[in-house]
Amino acid sequence: MTTHDYDLRLRGGRVFLHDTGLTDADLLVRDGRIAGIVDRDVPAEAAETVDLRGATVLPGAIDPHVHLGKDIRVPRDREDAERETASAVAGGVTSMLVYLMSSEPYEQVHRAAREAMESGAHTDFGFHFVLGTDDHVRAVPAYVRELGVASFKFFMNFRGDEGAYLGMPGNDDGFMYDLLGTTADAGAMVNPHPENIEIVWRLRERPRDESQGALHAWHLSRPPLVEAEAEQRVAYLAAATGASAYAVHTSSAAGLDAMRMQRSAYPNLFVETCTHYLTLTTAAECGTYGKVNPPLRPREDQEALWAGIADGSVDTVGSDHNSRHRSFKEKDIWSASAGFPGTGVLLPLTLGEGLRRGVPLARLVDATSTRSAKLFGLYPRKGTIRVGSDADLVVVDLEGETAITAERQHSAAEYTPWEGTTAPARIVHTLVRGHFAVRDGKLDTERPQGAYLHREHSGAAALAAVEKEEL
Ligand SMILES: [Zn+2]
Repeated sequence: MTTHDYDLRLRGGRVFLHDTGLTDADLLVRDGRIAGIVDRDVPAEAAETVDLRGATVLPGAIDPHVHLGKDIRVPRDREDAERETASAVAGGVTSMLVYLMSSEPYEQVHRAAREAMESGAHTDFGFHFVLGTDDHVRAVPAYVRELGVASFKFFMNFRGDEGAYLGMPGNDDGFMYDLLGTTADAGAMVNPHPENIEIVWRLRERPRDESQGALHAWHLSRPPLVEAEAEQRVAYLAAATGASAYAVHTSSAAGLDAMRMQRSAYPNLFVETCTHYLTLTTAAECGTYGKVNPPLRPREDQEALWAGIADGSVDTVGSDHNSRHRSFKEKDIWSASAGFPGTGVLLPLTLGEGLRRGVPLARLVDATSTRSAKLFGLYPRKGTIRVGSDADLVVVDLEGETAITAERQHSAAEYTPWEGTTAPARIVHTLVRGHFAVRDGKLDTERPQGAYLHREHSGAAALAAVEKEEL
């Protein structure tokens, strides 16, 4: 029997390193971790050597915003886990953070969801909990300590029975105030869904203007001010309570400006946008497949969000993936369900389109991987290529392209709003802890081996830990 010093050598790639950018180097992998970053002429015995022929090697993408399960509340079985994470790894995502949604205490929900994921996830995964009851808020310290969940979503738009369709109770700003204070003390973070639903209710009573198409009409029914006002409010209360707040799925220039303004006075505010706000507009040809909350916006908003990626005022890009089946979408804009699958296009589209627009690669790597790792307590295990980190890697052909079709997205949703479009980048291999989840573009259907990510902190507490570690 031959023994080798390393399990794998990735030869001849251009590797993204935080200090030096794209660097000619070979990567050595042992026991799922990066064990060496060496020059090409350095001898090292590996069980397998794969020639990357000059392709680009980036830290695996981290999708910080995913919904799983047929009811988009909780993944319950192998299929819920397998198909959507297949979509993710095929697109270069190696870790995802999944929102669990329940009005029950989370101990039981968490165990069942974790088991479902462990039965078939291709990516590593952690959870955010959606909180809606006072019992939930009281349990936050235990959720962090015992379950390893340190980020909590709050739907600001669930007033009255607005959230009943998802089994979530109505809430108000008083609840949010308590939640912010409690999470701050626990080293955790609140991920608000910022929309002022009371204004939406008023606008709903006005005559509908569909003169510029269905997606534009949906945008007018939930305009950017609805998002921007809610972001102002949660940011103000976060500052007042010393909390960290992470505005999910920021869709508009007004929303981004609101967060920029608040952040200039108080640092622990963070901004996520989504692939679809960066690459689709109200003029997209996807019809009601593109219905989502917040809505797709006109081109000016898209340009503002790209500027935010370039200057760092957008922290992360998530997919807000959900696999709601196409039968719920093939209706008129007012009765179609909101949301669609997107984890599989997050990296190819953000990276490809970002580079085409001249956004520096370092900013794109940060927004699709490193920043999420840092904000959600996964760094430096995830989000970077360095010795000791997990060998979560995506090998990309930046000269290639990806034709986007529902079939290649693997999702149970069976459609994609990007159908027939092309991403200017091609995923060659995706490695999760040194294992080829995707090799030469082909998914390993035999051995999905995603593992649970227990997280100790998020937001300011997580960033403080990163700083301490880097001293
Ligand atoms: Zn979401």
